[in-house]
Amino acid sequence: MLMRLIEWKRDTITTLIVHTPAKINVFLKVLGQRADGYHELDTIMVAVNLYDTLRFDTIPEPGSTGQITLTSRWMIDAPQENLPVIPDDGRNLVVKAAELLKRYVGRPELSVSVLLFKRIPAEAGMGGGSSDAAATLVGLNRFWQLGLRVDELHALAAELGSDLNFFLSSDPVAKCSGRGEQIEPIPDLAPLYAVIIKPWSGLSTKAVFDAYHAHAMNVDYASDRVLAVWKKESAIPGSLVFNALQAGASRVNSDVSKILKHLSLLPQTTGIMTGSGTACVALVRTADEGAQLARHLRIQQHGFVVSVRSSL
Ligand code: ATP
Repeated sequence: MLMRLIEWKRDTITTLIVHTPAKINVFLKVLGQRADGYHELDTIMVAVNLYDTLRFDTIPEPGSTGQITLTSRWMIDAPQENLPVIPDDGRNLVVKAAELLKRYVGRPELSVSVLLFKRIPAEAGMGGGSSDAAATLVGLNRFWQLGLRVDELHALAAELGSDLNFFLSSDPVAKCSGRGEQIEPIPDLAPLYAVIIKPWSGLSTKAVFDAYHAHAMNVDYASDRVLAVWKKESAIPGSLVFNALQAGASRVNSDVSKILKHLSLLPQTTGIMTGSGTACVALVRTADEGAQLARHLRIQQHGFVVSVRSSL
């Protein structure tokens, strides 16, 4: 599993901790728009070793029946004004996932206190909220001892959003289709090393798709070709990585275009935006190259910079 679960019990208090990863897209092709407004995608998602942490605790006081309480906290070292406010109420995907689970099993009395430590930047195209929600489904299934099967968790995940199903997968790389919720895990690929650069400015997914329609960009090959070459050459093929949303996002966000321009000038590095942005990814060959490039990019003060690898 992509998530890591740690559980302990003292007297009647149970605590469960879940570390849940970020994703990056190394290929994203838009196949068209459906009647329901969603875009049909062909994309490759890769889980990387940048984790949000959720801590689930029993609420000890009496009168807590049915309560879901959430407190989230940024763990990114940056001035507060550079970090978006994460809602701790029913708008948070963690609360939505917990409420959906309760409805599904018909147990309105279930309660939990959740502490969410955020390391995955938001409005980044790194699936932070989706990863937290998927971790909530997995975590509370265990914490509340609901005994739901993986296929049931997948159905609930698809109801909550398009990116959650990927985080329930067991391989760090998957080909995703539909609106992103249909996943085909791809085992045994060589590890990927990258540096993430997230400008402090963000973009909403809607704004990026609007910009995509004004500045559409596509390629004539599919994710299968990227995966076949990755397998054969034991490295991700830099010349084939692609994001259809990048041209539009670069037009509406000058930070994205600046970062991608900077990356395009570096030797042995492929730069790409992930998902609907605004995080950009520099693909490198080794962990050492990643660490070195991260040091260089931090000096440029583009925003949040971290060196990562595909995670298991
Ligand atoms: P994606 O890669 O799926 O496009 P994203 O990069 O847009 O994700 P998220 O971290 O999912 O970024 O956050 C987008 C917005 O969703 C936030 O600005 C916030 O208002 C809201 N949100 C709801 N729940 C969460 C959560 N658990 N963590 C972060 N943001 C959340």
